[in-house]
Amino acid sequence: MFGQDVVDLYHRTVDASLASLPFDASSREAFSAWQSDARARLGAIIGALPSAPANLTPTREVVEETGAYVRERLVYETRPGMRVPGYLLTPKGLDGPAPAVLCLHGHSRGGKENCLDADTGYAAFAPQFAERGVVAFCPDQIGFGERVMPEGKVTYHVLVHGLNMLGETLIGWRYWDLLCAMEIVSGLDTVREDRIGVMGLSLGGEMTLFLAAMQERIAAACVACYLTSHRSTFLDSSHCTCGHLWDLARQFEHVDLAALIAPRPLFLEAGSQDPSFPSGDAAALVDELRSVYTLHGKPDVDLGVHVHGGGHEINGSQSIPWMVDRLS
Ligand SMILES: [Zn+2]
Repeated sequence: MFGQDVVDLYHRTVDASLASLPFDASSREAFSAWQSDARARLGAIIGALPSAPANLTPTREVVEETGAYVRERLVYETRPGMRVPGYLLTPKGLDGPAPAVLCLHGHSRGGKENCLDADTGYAAFAPQFAERGVVAFCPDQIGFGERVMPEGKVTYHVLVHGLNMLGETLIGWRYWDLLCAMEIVSGLDTVREDRIGVMGLSLGGEMTLFLAAMQERIAAACVACYLTSHRSTFLDSSHCTCGHLWDLARQFEHVDLAALIAPRPLFLEAGSQDPSFPSGDAAALVDELRSVYTLHGKPDVDLGVHVHGGGHEINGSQSIPWMVDRLS
């Protein structure tokens, strides 16, 4: 009977609180000041990080060789006792250090395997980079691939909410893993450490966003099927709760998080048939963000969007060549 009162009050609270600290593009100085303050606030929301990784000297094993690249399985340790596997795709015939892209899967049980697949909504994006002369690294994120939670009492959702109760976040754990992945990739003698990009789908897009927002050494980012708005996604309907970070939507709308990447190159992919991340919001975000890129010059070169006809999936036909071009 009175439940609707709660829903109505919730909507009023969203309207009153959402994105209370929007980006300021009134001048380059104002924008830069907003960015430093916002990056510190976002870091606090993501949660505390370890002071040092456990062991980033990976074991390496060749698992596949194609005409275009060699694929190795790397295993390294990002926190004491926590091992992380990832696939490293190194193009054949490199005549010097090459650009690299971290390729991040979403909520898909296959984890890093999906980054290789042509038919699971990932358009084989990691091999596509390797075939274009770009080193690709695909780590398993916590909860997927070889890191699927074992049967037992500590399920994925116990982990999500248990970490929150301890003042940490699963997103923060994943973020630390990605800092470690970036460290490993930038240390490879096949990689140009100033030309490292990141691209991911859905949860992988969210982690792409956080990594590129926080780490200015990320040279280009492509977010697929995530960057839209909190209002039309997590605040509107049921999603996996791992991305529901405390206070995030009050401090940042998606466009504000994207503004932390500017003026570095950023590409958005969205599917017009995606039921959970509305493509109209992605296009509107790009329109709103263009002022920031205009302030810094090159609004058409360094900010891109492709709304394709598919669903919640990577298309890649525009984003991958764009990433290769921006990183070259
Ligand atoms: Zn999740």
